[in-house]
Amino acid sequence: MALNTTNKLMEKIVSLAKRKGFIFQSSEIYGGLNSCYDYGPLGIELKKNVKELWWKSMVYERDDVEGVDASILMHPRVWEASGHVEGFTDPLIDCKNCKSRFREDKVDTSKPCPVCGNKDTFTEARSFNLMFKTFMGPLEDSANIVYLRPETAQGIFTNFHNVREASRQKLPFGIAQIGKAFRNEITPGNFTFRTREFEQMEMQFFVSPDEDEKWFEYWKAKRMEWYQRLGLTKSKLRFHEHGPNELAHYAKAAFDIEYEFPFDWQEIEGIHNRTDFDLGRHAEYSTRNLSYFDEQKQQKYIPYVIETSIGCDRTVLTCLIDAYTEEEERVVLKFAPSIAPTKAAVFPLVKKDGMTEYAHKLIDDLRGDYRVFYDESGAVGRRYRRQDEAGTPFCITIDNETLENNTVTIRNRDTMAQERISSNQVKPYLAEHLKY
Ligand code: ATP
Repeated sequence: MALNTTNKLMEKIVSLAKRKGFIFQSSEIYGGLNSCYDYGPLGIELKKNVKELWWKSMVYERDDVEGVDASILMHPRVWEASGHVEGFTDPLIDCKNCKSRFREDKVDTSKPCPVCGNKDTFTEARSFNLMFKTFMGPLEDSANIVYLRPETAQGIFTNFHNVREASRQKLPFGIAQIGKAFRNEITPGNFTFRTREFEQMEMQFFVSPDEDEKWFEYWKAKRMEWYQRLGLTKSKLRFHEHGPNELAHYAKAAFDIEYEFPFDWQEIEGIHNRTDFDLGRHAEYSTRNLSYFDEQKQQKYIPYVIETSIGCDRTVLTCLIDAYTEEEERVVLKFAPSIAPTKAAVFPLVKKDGMTEYAHKLIDDLRGDYRVFYDESGAVGRRYRRQDEAGTPFCITIDNETLENNTVTIRNRDTMAQERISSNQVKPYLAEHLKY
């Protein structure tokens, strides 16, 4: 896609996201804080639904994955053991002319600076650690340094035995977690695609070392399938295998799941075979025994870890982009119904003859189960358009016929087709169409 069209599309999505209450710039009234964003009323629902869909498939639908919620601040030794203190760096280069900063691996240094257009103005690369540092307690000295976690995974490794013992799981089993992570990215950008504060949804699956490849393939397939449930366009998803130069220090194999964003194919999830690196290093640094005794095999070993790591905010952005559709007369967000922020809107055709009361009664009946929206203002066509832009899959209208025979119209967001059903069938209708 041409750069101009790409920028225009992203601009439209950013503007819609703000206008409809999906995503706002953080601290906007103070001029905004670069790369930090807030979720508005519709955004928080969309994000919650994405998390629920992930949790459902990773935890509720299985009996071999347990959940945790570890703290963001951890013992500083954790980050020495994990390799982050030493190696969680990006190569930073500056343009000597305009002082812009870039990740060396994200710009072509043989070309002119993308900001000022001058040639041969880049400095040599130097390592920049992406972890945010802060101090625990009142003294700001080096003994009190703690880090905001740059990934959620380490809280899972440090709890491996706690969770295993408490839940009486045997290998193979996994631990899932959703939580905030922080990275002092050199070049955040593309809206919420790359930010300095973001949420991850990670799962570490502990396996016997001789079964790692089998489970790696299993999770690769399983994770790709999940994006169909999320409703993303299949042809815009692909795997990208990490070559030897891309592999992280801990990984034996890694595949990214990439999506074709308006700006390029980019990663939304990483699937890694982390081997016994993490538990091995934590055993060494904590001097605790983190090995596992396999009763079936009558063997003791440090488990291997297959990791699936996905950015929640990046996924929400992907859903917005994938859903965004311009049609002749309308802009519509075609979310999968299961993740749509508002499930249904209820409209009285006019504000008289008891239609508003009827609509409120219907809403009261739906409210406990679904996020529903009531709208009585303006022409029905305009109300439909507003819900199309919010991605609401169903609009229910109360009209004269409703008062005569207790039927309502249900209008489908994507086809715009309307059908008339009995008002006591609305709840089962939604249940049927919102299943995931
Ligand atoms: P990248 O190459 O894009 O920097 P990464 O390979 O460092 O990403 P991982 O460490 O594998 O990413 O993190 C797993 C997932 O977390 C990514 O696939 C992405 O969805 C999300 N993620 C990572 N960094 C960010 C960020 N700065 N902002 C938003 N999401 C992020």
